[in-house]
Amino acid sequence: SELEAKVHTATAELAEQNEKLRRQALQLEQASAAKSQFLANMSHEFRTPLNAILGYTNMLLQGVSGEMMPTQKRNLQRIDSNGRHLLQVINEILDITRIEAGRMPLNLSDFALPELLQEVMAELDPIIARTKLVVDAALPPRLPEVHSDRQKVKQIVLNLLSNALKFTHEGSIQVNAEYQPSLSLVLISVKDTGIGIAQEHQEKIFEDFQQVDSSPTRAYGGTGLGLSICRRLATMLGGRITVQSALGQGSTFTLHLPRRTRRT
Ligand code: ADP
Repeated sequence: SELEAKVHTATAELAEQNEKLRRQALQLEQASAAKSQFLANMSHEFRTPLNAILGYTNMLLQGVSGEMMPTQKRNLQRIDSNGRHLLQVINEILDITRIEAGRMPLNLSDFALPELLQEVMAELDPIIARTKLVVDAALPPRLPEVHSDRQKVKQIVLNLLSNALKFTHEGSIQVNAEYQPSLSLVLISVKDTGIGIAQEHQEKIFEDFQQVDSSPTRAYGGTGLGLSICRRLATMLGGRITVQSALGQGSTFTLHLPRRTRRT
């Protein structure tokens, strides 16, 4: 019938459209993968000479070529700190390109959170010791084991706690973990009494290279890539990161982690 013929044509047209879109998507994917690969190679090629620069700088700083004038030493320290900043940017870009290219594998296992949080705090102990901040953890006694990627969860919490330490001048930092059985979700939060983040910046800080203070004379170091990596890692784990903050009062960053991460 006429109607059947119409439906037939429409279906054929749709199929053709579909095929065209699929080809375009594939092309975009290939272009994106090529870009990621290029960035990954480039980051890698940058690292080798940079490590050599840092190595020689440190040798000079340690006085292997004899004593230096104070100005020489100061200048070398600037070379060293800028070099280390550059290395951090490169390492973080490498992390991002690995994730984007799907070359950051998920290593799932069962593990306990309290030990992991203790490990993170122990790793930051030298930094904590240099502050007057009280850092403590409140962990419920019956926190279930999680099935997830331990190294990635650790990287996220390490980053959130490092940020809390960096942006807090006085008061305390509280690490909390809590299980929500109804959602099968573990919430890990880092709460600080630091400088806080204005509402209009709270979404932006999760984007690549975004920092609240972007002036050339920024008071805080960093690359603006930490949180964007954390967000990508949380997504890989099937979770997300949220922030609650008020300017001048402090911030709470929360990782919402499924108790069991599933492969997609
Ligand atoms: P970085 O710390 O290297 O600048 P991040 O991506 O980790 O990069 O953070 C982006 C920005 O978000 C920071 O520069 C800072 O402006 C803001 N920020 C992150 N954590 C906090 C915090 N705990 N308190 C206040 N501001 C924060």
